[in-house]
Amino acid sequence: MDLYEHQARELFAEYGIPVPEAEVTDSPKGARYAAERLGGRVVVKAQVKTGGRGKAGGVKLAADPAAAELTARQILGMDIKGHTVRKVMLAQPVDIESEFYAGYVLDRAAGRFLAIASAEGGMDIEEVAATRPEAVARILIDPSEGVTAAKAAEIAAAAHLPPEAAGVLQRMWQVLVREDALLVEVNPLVRTAGGAILALDGKVTLDDNARFRQARWSSDSDSAGPQDDRQGNPQTDPGTDPLEAAAAAKGLNYVKLDGEVGIIGNGAGLVMSTLDVVAGCGARPANFLDIGGGASAQVMADGLSVILSDPAVKSVFVNVFGGITACDAVAEGIVQALESVQLTRPLVVRLDGNNAARGRAVLDSRAHPLVQQATTMDGAARQAASLAITA
Ligand code: GDP
Ligand code: MN
Repeated sequence: MDLYEHQARELFAEYGIPVPEAEVTDSPKGARYAAERLGGRVVVKAQVKTGGRGKAGGVKLAADPAAAELTARQILGMDIKGHTVRKVMLAQPVDIESEFYAGYVLDRAAGRFLAIASAEGGMDIEEVAATRPEAVARILIDPSEGVTAAKAAEIAAAAHLPPEAAGVLQRMWQVLVREDALLVEVNPLVRTAGGAILALDGKVTLDDNARFRQARWSSDSDSAGPQDDRQGNPQTDPGTDPLEAAAAAKGLNYVKLDGEVGIIGNGAGLVMSTLDVVAGCGARPANFLDIGGGASAQVMADGLSVILSDPAVKSVFVNVFGGITACDAVAEGIVQALESVQLTRPLVVRLDGNNAARGRAVLDSRAHPLVQQATTMDGAARQAASLAITA
């Protein structure tokens, strides 16, 4: 779960990371009053859980409270990469001398957190990393040591950050550990004309698996909680896919992928190997969908409707190994699902395990023109793949 910038800013302040004075509001009038309290001149910043707000016109300087009101009126309601702006943060403007990047991100391959820092902050760090990798320092953090003063100094030196930035690097690490974050990023970290170091923009991603011990974010109220405003734009925002949201609402374990063979299976392990087998047949899986042990008619119908509403899907592969759930029950589920869902693309079903023969008989007697059966997983994968490729 991502936090809004203003929430990240509050966390930073709590941990002693210097941040500009700021206030949050959801109205233009509120922006005017906040600007009055903040000294008149303010930066008006869209609060959305996506980067690149500056380029999108979501970060603007306002010279006085009246201008802040006007600017807030423009920014509130704006759409930034599929996110609707519902709140703005008003911040005291900072006289920037230089902009840096600093962040900790989980390196899943290394099984450790990675410190990433660069003297080329402000703009897109991915772009800097791609075009000038030597300008980005990457240092793995030993979890048993954490970011000590020496480690922070090492990161700052490697990235050519000012030595005073080391204190911020240590405190960012404390945020990460104590708040159970997966990502803590400051971009830009700035040095002001007066020589002060300030975190001007923050991104914090909390580990949802640790939510049970992080009481403060479990509230659903918008002021305290990290309620989201995403519209769902898979192009710009992985993880906000509308199909994933629809599937989640139905309690399905669904992940959208970018291929053309829709996949339904029971059990995460079976589904994952199904993806592999389909890929092995030269096609690409369109999704991961684990309907779990029950595989009732309702779950099957829900799963099919989610998969079929993805226009990229050219064929669907249902791969079920009957264990506690008997295959004939699954087949009945498929037959019932076909009553409520209009099948528009071919469905290849492979039933094996408990009561497989009876399950196949159930499907045979339904004799739907778009449903075909296979007895092996490999055979079914080949069928589904070739149907998708020739479609
Ligand atoms: P982002 O575009 O979503 O990453 O939003 P940021 O908060 O990082 O703002 C984008 C850019 O606006 C920063 O890199 C700064 O160059 C600029 N900016 C933000 N706040 C201030 C400020 O207080 N003073 C000045 N001069 N520039 C600012
Ligand atoms: Mn930024």
